[in-house]
Amino acid sequence: MIGFIQLNSKKLHENIHAFFIIGIIIFSCCLIGILGRPLTFLATFWIANAVLLGIFLRFPNYHNLGGWLGSFIGYMAADLVTGNYVLLTLFLTMANMINVFVSMLIIRWFHLNFRNYNKGLTFLYLFLISALGGCLSGAIFAVSTIPFVPNTFMNPARIWVDFGMWWTGEILNIITYLPIVLAIPTKAVLQEYWKNKRQENFQFIEILPAIFVLISVILAHFFTGPGSIMFPIAALIWASLRYNLFFVTIINLIVVTFLYTSLSTFYASESSTAYLSTAISIRIGLVMLALGPLTLSIISMNRQKLYHQILYLANHDSLTSTMNRRFFYEESERLVNHISPKNVSESITILLLDLDHFKKINDHYGHMTGDYVLQEFTKIVKSNLRETDLFGRLGGEEFAILFKNLSLKQSTQIAQRICNSVHQTPIYLENGEILNISVSIGLSFQTLPYCVPFQQLINQADLALYQAKENGRNQLCVKHNLGTT
Ligand code: GH3
Ligand code: MG
Ligand code: MG
Repeated sequence: MIGFIQLNSKKLHENIHAFFIIGIIIFSCCLIGILGRPLTFLATFWIANAVLLGIFLRFPNYHNLGGWLGSFIGYMAADLVTGNYVLLTLFLTMANMINVFVSMLIIRWFHLNFRNYNKGLTFLYLFLISALGGCLSGAIFAVSTIPFVPNTFMNPARIWVDFGMWWTGEILNIITYLPIVLAIPTKAVLQEYWKNKRQENFQFIEILPAIFVLISVILAHFFTGPGSIMFPIAALIWASLRYNLFFVTIINLIVVTFLYTSLSTFYASESSTAYLSTAISIRIGLVMLALGPLTLSIISMNRQKLYHQILYLANHDSLTSTMNRRFFYEESERLVNHISPKNVSESITILLLDLDHFKKINDHYGHMTGDYVLQEFTKIVKSNLRETDLFGRLGGEEFAILFKNLSLKQSTQIAQRICNSVHQTPIYLENGEILNISVSIGLSFQTLPYCVPFQQLINQADLALYQAKENGRNQLCVKHNLGTT
């Protein structure tokens, strides 16, 4: 009973929260639309419906009765405070909410999860649903009610034009603003992004696609005509392949806003009688234009993700997730070759690690336990390494580590620490037994300017490892360019 009350009070709290949050957001979005609309006509850029749909899709805990009521109050209040009368406001609000409601209904019907938008054509389906479901029903409701109450927007005599204007306007708004709401990065993604950006050097080529998009929309403004809607297409393709989805949604917003303003201003002055049908034509054109970059950006994002996954698999050992032999050699050679001969403080340390009597573990406990021991061993080693150290599995139970720019003393201390922690960390087996393993380590160390080829460093470490085994295992042996210790 107490659990039931707690559950209900949690639900009530969620509903109240959604009511206020959505109410305030929708009220603000409506005010932006109302204050920005041309006199006596519907708002050109009406963001409220796209924002409401986006929030419900992205934050399902706001999609409750409280959220719907909050949005109703938000829509109504914004229109009433700006001077509309109640009946008209009610019909406008209902037309707006029907759009979002029908879209949500169909999205749920098809079990479409927006989180999968980067998989295949989910985004495209989302727009199809919204255009042919939500926007269409909103427009039908609007033209069957609003022209019959006193208003300055619609007139029964030109019902088809009003219908076209409402419908295309809604689709254009959805395609422009919904992707932004869905793609706004989370705090964690943003932090990761800035972290990566700070490590990279700024390259001018990165901002070139955005510059070309701007140039193309400016050109479209000065050479307005039937072709100008296509001016940005090449720059948009470039931008979609270069930037992440969120940037692409912002670029789309800029292109749609600029082109819509340039083209509709031009055609309104050319032929005011055909203004409405031209506006519908421009809107449909812009919807088609905006769909391209969004789809392309998602496909490109998907491909890059896949490429990185495959690259990781190609370069890492599947059992221990350490670098595989080839990748370790490649990365090490790259590091060794990139040492600047002027910097005498630079050094390279190679550790070769070989588990002691590993064959006995396999023979006694089986191959599966042997695999598990290899995984636990790598965890122990990794806990002693820095992010910049290279750690790879050369084969079987033999591993290698590369340190850059550590002194011989520091390298020896870390290698000894690894040797000790492998020996001292118990490994708990599934059958309840506790296993203690040990490792022998050979270390080779080289400072500049006497840097030798990487393979020679490995050979030296191998000799040191051999010595460690000879001396009784579970220990470290060192070879460096000053001799052997
Ligand atoms: P030493 O102390 O001289 O290094 O003895 P050792 O038994 O560790 O060395 P040896 O080279 O005789 O045996 C290595 C064993 O490692 C033989 C092989 O079956 C086993 N091994 C190699 N790769 C794997 C693997 O991926 N999984 C498991 N479980 N065992 C492996
Ligand atoms: Mg061994
Ligand atoms: Mg071995």
